[in-house]
This record gives sequence, structure tokens and C-alpha cells, in this order.
Amino acid sequence: MDRTSRNRPAWSLACEGCGRTHTAFAAFRGCPDCAREGRTCVMQVEGALPLAPAPGAPTLGEGGTPLVRAPRIAARLGVGELFFKLEGANPTGSYKDRYVAATLAAVLPFGVDRIVVSSTGNLGVSVAAYAAAAGMRCLFLAASGLPRAALVQAQAHGALVAMTDAQRRNVLFEHAALERGWFPVGLRMPRRVSNPFGVEGYRAIAIEVAAALGRAPDAMLFPCARGNGLFGAWRGFSAMPGPRPRMVACQPADANSIEASLRAGVEMPLELPPSTSIAFSTRESQADPMALRAIRESGGTAASVDDAAILAAQDELARSGIFVEHSCALPLACLPGLLARGALRRDETIVCVLTASGVRWAEQMPDFPAVPEIAPTPAALDAFLAAAGAG
Ligand SMILES: [Zn+2]
Repeated sequence: MDRTSRNRPAWSLACEGCGRTHTAFAAFRGCPDCAREGRTCVMQVEGALPLAPAPGAPTLGEGGTPLVRAPRIAARLGVGELFFKLEGANPTGSYKDRYVAATLAAVLPFGVDRIVVSSTGNLGVSVAAYAAAAGMRCLFLAASGLPRAALVQAQAHGALVAMTDAQRRNVLFEHAALERGWFPVGLRMPRRVSNPFGVEGYRAIAIEVAAALGRAPDAMLFPCARGNGLFGAWRGFSAMPGPRPRMVACQPADANSIEASLRAGVEMPLELPPSTSIAFSTRESQADPMALRAIRESGGTAASVDDAAILAAQDELARSGIFVEHSCALPLACLPGLLARGALRRDETIVCVLTASGVRWAEQMPDFPAVPEIAPTPAALDAFLAAAGAG
């Protein structure tokens, strides 16, 4: 291998607007041709980023997460083949680790040494951890209201962390990226600053699920904010031979950009007013157009539910041993409605992707009774059990 081919990546970038391909870096600024004509267009990776970590790229062992059954939930719903993909088993507790690992593998050969992220929690913590693994500097612009556990973990990894207005943090993110030279590990979306690489990491979710089942499922339910995860997994399924699943976006009732846009029949997702849903990580006002396109290509659909349904689903998962943050309960919360309207059938193989653990979200959980302190005596334990009706 000569020096030229070693330095040239095996992928290029295609503009989703004009279709022209680019090999130049600065991919996060979108398509330069469209920018000259006053349009903001996102780039998409052509060719394939390697799924295995590139030599020298940081990995913390992301991916390879469990696909499990929850028999009592399946029995209640009357769905025989119901599976949960436990993305909380990733190194920092969420599927964002796949996104961040893929991003850093793509940009490290270009000498990037400092990265900025704007996040409602999981992405920020993941970027902080992988920056630490790679020896890079990390600036984390956290949405106000983010749980302390996320801030502390990011600080422990050595990130510079600042909290700011959840609705307007993008201004600071773009400033850091465009004016201050921080590489933006942001989301994939039609904005001035976008990340075309991260979604490639989500292709592995499709590959892992198909390998575990021996074939693609009939339907794949994702909690969706922008829909980056759903889109990335669909790219994985699209590259496989044979039947593909219907992709189903599950959203909070007041942040249902995908559902509302499918209903309206539009290509550019509708922008909604700010959400107040308890599902913090999915409080996004506007989805990615590629998520919409993926759902339509797959013959899929979208659904939304209110906070009460989200809390009930989260509780049911927890009582089956699966502890997730509120937004990750969306697929289970949406399942009964999808079955009722015939969007899913009870004889189908259904996979719910549970994108993150609930561990860092304890402050957002429902109020449980205070844990009592009891004396270290058998009598005190007997009294405690009797009071709980568990004697
Ligand atoms: Zn273009």
C-alpha cells in the first residue's frame, strides 16, 4: 500500500440535495456546491465505513448488545415473537457509543484533536468517554435540566462541560464548530453543522439483530427524536439480501414530528413547538428527512403516546428486569396501539430497540417510597417484611 492509498479513506460523501460526491473533509459543513446556491444539504457516506474499529481509532467495546425476550410482556400483549435489543449494555449505557465510535474512526485520520457535542445527555457522555479513550479534548454543551449523573460522568472523563438553554444551544454548538475549530460530533440533520458519519455505526444494530434471529424481523420499533438511529439501522437492513423489516418510529405525543409528517405526506419533516414530555431524550422539534424516507421505503409507520403510557411501559420493563430511561419505553408504550390499528400483527417477529439504560436518569424516575433504615436485628427485619406484606 503506498502512502496515497493509506491516507485516502475508503468512502466518499454524496450530497442528499444535488447528488454530487465529495472527497474533501469539512463534511460537517454540508454540501459546498449547494451552500454556494444558498441551500443547506446534508452529506451521506458512500462506500462503507468499516464496522470494526479502524486501527488506532478508539473503541470501548461498543455493540454486540443482547437481544432478549420478556415472556410476561409478550404474554400480556399476545405477541409470540417479541424481542428487546438492550442498547443500555453499551459501554456508556446507550447506543450513542456506536455513533461516536464510527464518527471518531472516520475523522481521526484527518488529525482532529478536539471535539464538541451538544446533547440532552447520552450523546454527551458518550463523546466525553470516547474523547478520553482517544486522548482528545471534549467540549460538552449540555441542555439545561440534564441529570447530574450525566454531567458528573462527562466531567470524570475530563470533558469541559457547560449547561445552556435546551432550545437554543445549537447557536453555541455552531459557533464552536465553525468559528473555533472544534470538530462537531452532532446529529445528522439539515443544519449548518451536521455529522454524516455517526449513523454508519447504527448499521451494526441491523446486522446483529438479523444474525441473532437468523433473519430480519418483520418490524423494528425505535424510540425517535430526529430518527438517526432508525435511519442508520435501515441502512444496515437495506444492504442485506432478503426480506427487510418495517421500520416504526415511536415518539412522545408532543414531539411526534415523524408521525405528523407521515400523516401530512410531506418530505421535509414538520417542525413542532417545544416538547414538555417526560421522555427527555426524544424532545426534539423536528426529525431528519432521511428517517421519514427510511420509514416510507420500508413500508413502516410511526406512533406516539402520552407521558402516562410511557411511565406505564417503563414500569413494566423495569418489573421484567429491564431498566430504561423514559424515552426508551416508547416502543413498548406504542405497541398496543400499533397492534390495535393493524400496523403490527401478533404473529409477527417484532424487535423493540431500547436505546439506553435508565441508570443515569434516576432523578427523572417516579417517586418511590423512601427506603427505610432498619436496625440490624432479625426482629427488625421481620417487622419490615410484615409491614410490606411479605412476611
Ligand atoms: Zn449538494
